[in-house]
Amino acid sequence: MVFHGGVGTVTGSRFLVSTRDDAVLVDCGLFQGLKELRLRNWQGPGFDPRAPRAIVLTHAHIDHTGYLPRLVQLGYRGPIYATPATAEVARILLLDAAEIQEEDAAFANRKGFSKHHPALPLYTVKDALRALQYIRTRPYGERFEAGTFRVTFRNAGHILGSAFVQLEVPMGEDRAHRIVFSGDLGRYHQPIHTDPVPLPPCDTLVLESTYGDRSHGHQSVITQLRDELLPTLERGGTVLIPAFAVARAQLVTHHLRVAIETGRFPDVPIHIDSPMANDVTGLYNRYLESEYLDRSIPHTAPGALFPRNVRFHRTIEDSKKLNNLPGPRIVIASSGMLTGGRVLHHLQRLAPDPRNLICLVGYQAAGTRGRALLEGAPTVRVFGIDVDVRARVTCIHGLSAHADRDELIRWVESAPEPPKRIFLVHGEPPAAESLAEALRPRVPSEVVIPAMGESFALA
Ligand SMILES: [Zn+2]
Repeated sequence: MVFHGGVGTVTGSRFLVSTRDDAVLVDCGLFQGLKELRLRNWQGPGFDPRAPRAIVLTHAHIDHTGYLPRLVQLGYRGPIYATPATAEVARILLLDAAEIQEEDAAFANRKGFSKHHPALPLYTVKDALRALQYIRTRPYGERFEAGTFRVTFRNAGHILGSAFVQLEVPMGEDRAHRIVFSGDLGRYHQPIHTDPVPLPPCDTLVLESTYGDRSHGHQSVITQLRDELLPTLERGGTVLIPAFAVARAQLVTHHLRVAIETGRFPDVPIHIDSPMANDVTGLYNRYLESEYLDRSIPHTAPGALFPRNVRFHRTIEDSKKLNNLPGPRIVIASSGMLTGGRVLHHLQRLAPDPRNLICLVGYQAAGTRGRALLEGAPTVRVFGIDVDVRARVTCIHGLSAHADRDELIRWVESAPEPPKRIFLVHGEPPAAESLAEALRPRVPSEVVIPAMGESFALA
């Protein structure tokens, strides 16, 4: 097994499992954040793109799927297995990622601020459409064959469609090595998504560690939203919430809805400036009654996940109209780490005004504008220009779609027997190391933090 990404960083997840005559790639993510990471997207995947017999996706997030169009462009032609919901979400996300790549390249060429002439997209919408044709869907719980490997998806409770993957690797003489890839693991007792299914017995566990050094705390999200947002709204300011269009946008608005309906929050206009969040919410509403989501959410009307005063902005013209609206109001736009998308236009306009609030609600990877804001940067660079940050910046805890340290440990301990070996991936080094220290005294498993490109024999 070789770790071609998703180690030492939360992005670029790619794990290649090979036997003498077969290979399967688990996840095919894009590197994001720090420039040295983003440059890796241009450097080739680290293996022959035609080598994997199949690709298996844990979930649709771009750091797990965003390299697919590039891999197909480079020659991959096999099936890409995913749950039905992941296939639908991935379609939306990959087409959007490709559009952003094309728009960014075009914008850079128009403004001439790129060092590359001409600036090229990593891949195009056409490449993304081609990659999507290779997707084959399999439901949770069905054991299927990918070459000589056997694969089963189980609900990971992270976002709509998310799975952890049970992989049975043939080892000869009817023996199989059982590996579980956690993908991104969701949380326990949260609205909208289900709890992660207990960890089945396995020989090797590849476990994410995004929040391996943190606890999400127990303060209620609604209390935090009130405390942080109300002062800004009362003075007529605008609250900008950069949010991933999948899961986070739905979760934030769901909490606001509960707060408004129980009289704990004012009925201010909420603008969701993201065609993608609009499309993804449609999917969430469609899956509300299925095993994919927490069935206890009330869902009597279409669009049930949102309060009445939510307005969606689909077109660029709609988005521009937002510039002239008076406060108080809440604007939710993606991307969640301010790495691209419409949120940048809002940031450019809203950040210099001290009456406004920028409210971060998810993980902010190193090297992103989100992380810079979180760390109190006085300016951030947007479209080649330094923008002053005079607006207040805050962060709401508990809206993460990732398990925290205690929840990761709880999931590992939910297995009927401990794995022989645990690889910690998908975490910045302090998070992975901290989780390793916490796990070692509790489980007899060998706990390993692999390095980028490192390879291990399956024993
Ligand atoms: Zn994810």
